Amino acid sequence: MPRETVDLDALSVVRRLDKSDYLAYFVGGCVRDSLLGVIPKDFDVATSARPRDVKKVFRNCRLIGKRFTLAHVFFAGNNIIEVATFRQAPSEEDQEGELIVHDNEFGSPHSDAFRRDFTINALFYDPVRHEIIDYCGGMEDVYRRVLRSIGDPVVRFREDPIRMLRAIKFASRLKLSFEPSLERALKSERLELLKAARPRFSQELLRMLQGGAARASYELLESLQYLDLILPEMSAGWAQTPNLRSETLELLATLDEYEGSFEEEATYLVCLWWPLYSELVKGRQPSPKVAKWIALRLLAPFATRVRLSIKQLHHLTRSLSALLMMSRNAQVDERGRATQRGGPRGKQDRDHQALYQLITRSRAQSRSAG
Ligand code: ATP
Ligand code: MG
Repeated sequence: MPRETVDLDALSVVRRLDKSDYLAYFVGGCVRDSLLGVIPKDFDVATSARPRDVKKVFRNCRLIGKRFTLAHVFFAGNNIIEVATFRQAPSEEDQEGELIVHDNEFGSPHSDAFRRDFTINALFYDPVRHEIIDYCGGMEDVYRRVLRSIGDPVVRFREDPIRMLRAIKFASRLKLSFEPSLERALKSERLELLKAARPRFSQELLRMLQGGAARASYELLESLQYLDLILPEMSAGWAQTPNLRSETLELLATLDEYEGSFEEEATYLVCLWWPLYSELVKGRQPSPKVAKWIALRLLAPFATRVRLSIKQLHHLTRSLSALLMMSRNAQVDERGRATQRGGPRGKQDRDHQALYQLITRSRAQSRSAG
């Protein structure tokens, strides 16, 4: 693992656990991304120490989670390292039919690797001995850039349908090909998605927008016919208005090139919905209040479907109407009349400004392309 990209706080967590005679490894996304040449977003640690033992080793530590206790170790600069005890695959009592409802038994590194979703996500790295520990054949799949399910993908998707969205996210973001049986299962088990835990739905939809591969992810959702399950408004809109699909995908491509990041996560969802919303209000001049109401009517079914919080829904409707006002003012601007008052104030205002610039850039790009 290249030294420059290793999180030194995470390294110190592993070293301290190792010194206290526990097994401790980096695990999951950070190992996978490092091997694929991507800078890891965050470093997770897996250990043989039980949560209470982790707390004894670190003073700057808090235990979180009801179902499965995790330890958060706090460092300067708001850096939090998540430390999880090795787990086992859930037993039959932890399942309702095929769906996993509990997942909280401690286990060994071996069992912990096999309960994970894809082989490339099940690699451990021991930064003290500089060793990779590979129980599931993840290394070969990293080198071949293949996304392979651990165990039968049909079974694994039925246990937890969110894994299907994760497969789409990883394949798009990391440019991986699907192992053939996984690809078949993505098609045959499509309707299982309706049984997935709803809050995790919106989380994965968000992750797809944030990882620099928003366009590829949403195109893949469309081609696998997941879009009409998750975002029927979107697929219907795309079918009715030919330009809407290309406008949305173009805006997502512009988002992928954006080097900054929005301050509020929900702003990524605003980016997804903006083209459809602006199509809906086209040719109308709604007041800010009516503009918000139109946004609410558009988004309420989605918010229920993926269990958005009231705060997120409010953020979305406020942002869509604010963007509409901004684009309307800007049109007046070009004719030399109204000017925008004041600069951005809060987080959401700064996000509006950033997103507005992306929208303008995306429009300019489509115009020069068309
Ligand atoms: P990202 O870069 O998007 O955070 P990640 O691989 O770190 O990717 P997380 O959601 O942070 O993904 O999960 C951490 C690890 O937990 C994964 O690498 C995987 O091993 C395991 N995991 C996460 N979700 C599931 C799931 N639904 N089923 C099985 N294992 C999972
Ligand atoms: Mg992660």
